[in-house]
Amino acid sequence: MEYSQVQVPKYDCLLFDLDDTLYPLSTGLATSVLKNIQAYMDEKLGIDESKIPDLCNLLYKNYGTTMAGLRAIGYDFDYDEYHSFVHGRLPYENLKPDPVLKSLLSSLPIRKVIFTNADKVHAIKALNRLGLEDCFEGIICFETLNPTHKSTASDDEDDTEFIGSTQSSTAVNGTSGVFDIIGYFSQPDAQPSGLPKTPIVCKPSESAIEKAIKIANIDPHRTLFFEDSVRNIQSGKCVGLDTVLVGKSQRVKGADYALESIHNLREAIPELWEADKIGNVSYTGSGVVAVETSVTA
Ligand SMILES: [Mg+2]
Repeated sequence: MEYSQVQVPKYDCLLFDLDDTLYPLSTGLATSVLKNIQAYMDEKLGIDESKIPDLCNLLYKNYGTTMAGLRAIGYDFDYDEYHSFVHGRLPYENLKPDPVLKSLLSSLPIRKVIFTNADKVHAIKALNRLGLEDCFEGIICFETLNPTHKSTASDDEDDTEFIGSTQSSTAVNGTSGVFDIIGYFSQPDAQPSGLPKTPIVCKPSESAIEKAIKIANIDPHRTLFFEDSVRNIQSGKCVGLDTVLVGKSQRVKGADYALESIHNLREAIPELWEADKIGNVSYTGSGVVAVETSVTA
């Protein structure tokens, strides 16, 4: 019988991005992150200030994170130092406990995993601030995807050896050793495929998402992936995940659902709660639902 399979829950794992997905942009964290990244490029890497905004854009666009891009074009720096510089001074006080989200998540008897490009310290701090630290089975973060790197912040000599304390990294690298990505893209026929590769594994690369799927031991076809980033959604779709764009009420290509806020989860995807009921489940193609900001919730 064709309806015999509706008793099986459609999803057995929910995979969540963290920043700007589990809390809104209005917290101002994203703005602070960008400001701190630019300050790092100026103060620690000695990059010409006038070039920083363009460089930042190009690196983020082509490499997934500015950090991955900086490594690709030839800057060498300590990952922990970068993360603590960028995340250390964020307005974490703007992240408040979210009991509504906590109870939504707790009411779902499905595996829940965090998948973020950020480092572990930031992920744990943000989840604690939101009061969501007990809601997830695990966190896949920068250190998980880039395991050759020592993840513990410390004062070990190993950590400091490439960063001269008196000389900027520009002096260490020499500007001549750095790939001029701004110049590269000023050529009319420049293709992203001609760019140097980064050693850093991060979203939206499909291989990063596949790696996360493997580490979490999940079936992408039975996993729902929540993200605020359109390109991450699209890569997620390519590797077989069902996808939920968070923070927008309009779906985009690659998104199965769109939620203005993660708080709209129950209204937008009620089948998550109903999955174990028998019958009365109709699949309308991709199961598309778009939800406007709820005024009643
Ligand atoms: Mg995000």
